Amino acid sequence: MTQVITSIHDWVLTWHRELGDKSIGFVPTMGALHAGHQSLIDYSRKDNDITVVSLFVNPTQFNDKNDFERYPRNDEKDISLLGQWGVDYIFMPVYHELYPDNYTYKVSESSFSTQMEGASRPGHFDGVLTVVMKLLNIIHPDRSYFGEKDFQQYSLISKMCEAFFMPIEIIMCPTVRDQDGLALSSRNALLTEEERKRAPLFHELLRSSLKAEEIVKKLNESGFRVDYVVDYENRRFGAVYLGNTRLIDNVQR
Ligand code: AMP
Repeated sequence: MTQVITSIHDWVLTWHRELGDKSIGFVPTMGALHAGHQSLIDYSRKDNDITVVSLFVNPTQFNDKNDFERYPRNDEKDISLLGQWGVDYIFMPVYHELYPDNYTYKVSESSFSTQMEGASRPGHFDGVLTVVMKLLNIIHPDRSYFGEKDFQQYSLISKMCEAFFMPIEIIMCPTVRDQDGLALSSRNALLTEEERKRAPLFHELLRSSLKAEEIVKKLNESGFRVDYVVDYENRRFGAVYLGNTRLIDNVQR
């Protein structure tokens, strides 16, 4: 039976203690679940005795209030899916318990986090790193699972754990895509039918052999508003808007 927990104290003082030395895998999410989330959960279930998934739309990582309000939410459906997917515990904290300091304390990184997503969304990674550190400190997992789709996020979290000597294995899981190549994302639900049909061109161009500037030109011509297409180390990263919806993706080169 899947157990839903909203209170931090209940998890720390009761449920976590009862697990003894069972290994714990943890998958943080913002809900509106899809097969990308499910694959992270499958990896966790393979590696660990117990899998915990958090559902929390973290306000501190949204630099735009409208984006936070528009973000898709469907708790009832998510809880039912997580039950079907064999998750043991669902952690759904409330803001005032997770942020007793009302976000006066934060975790910042001052180098890689200023690029790409960080450059376009000021404060975004402060919010991400802060909430993930809080969640890891509460859940105390052995391993935690993150998607390659958000590679910059994965990399920053992995290095945060090293920097702060947090004894947790951070595991990257491959991007799950629709058949037409579009990376699954909760935000895809916000695309109109017509935008959804155009969306796969983004991934198709990112993985092509064209230069970054040529990709930007082609995307602009096809009705995307390009935020960035950047080659960094052995990857090509991109962020675009289709209408009001922001999509990100990256591919190895
Ligand atoms: P989110 O709910 O969007 O914050 O995502 C929660 C976790 O799922 C993050 O580690 C994401 O990188 C991961 N994730 C989201 N979409 C995908 C996908 N299409 N494939 C693999 N992982 C994903």
